[in-house]
Amino acid sequence: MSNIVAIVGRPNVGKSTLFNRLVGERKAIMDDQSGVTRDRHYGRAEWIGKYFTVIDTGGYVSGSEDVFEEAIREQVQLAMEEANVILFMVDVTEGIHPLDEEFARVVRKSKKPVYVIANKADTSERVHWAGSFYALGIGDSEIFPVSSQSGAGTGELLDAVVSHF
Ligand code: GDP
Ligand code: MG
Repeated sequence: MSNIVAIVGRPNVGKSTLFNRLVGERKAIMDDQSGVTRDRHYGRAEWIGKYFTVIDTGGYVSGSEDVFEEAIREQVQLAMEEANVILFMVDVTEGIHPLDEEFARVVRKSKKPVYVIANKADTSERVHWAGSFYALGIGDSEIFPVSSQSGAGTGELLDAVVSHF
């Protein structure tokens, strides 16, 4: 498969909301293997005539800190192997969370293009907060303020994503 976009990030930042918006009514193919790293939803999306597959990663189980770190590493590494473009999602309303830094450590090693998605940027004030995530140091990648709930900012993001396809 080609043209694959993976959405990674800690729980509750809005990954599934963006996934559902991108995939729309098209039925997502569920990976029925459950577990820490294998809970992945795949869906087909289209933007300006270009088709691509979106992976919604998730599937955390509670465990010790070590297990959690390992789960993050595996989740992101699998996504990075499989995808052509990585969307690393954070929550503008919460600022940089320790788990965001955990993800950033792994994502930074990606040789694939990575975009930081500052989600929940529902208002113009929140859009301005997005700049604070440059401190995550994700190479030279851009930060896209987005509201997955309203769709604001997703056009600019998708223009950047499909430029790789
Ligand atoms: P995930 O765990 O990363 O998949 O996050 P979800 O997609 O399940 O969303 C977590 C929560 O954030 C839900 O209550 C969503 O309704 C909410 N949410 C997602 N996107 C937005 C957004 O753009 N703005 C706001 N205000 N809330 C959002
Ligand atoms: Mg989810």
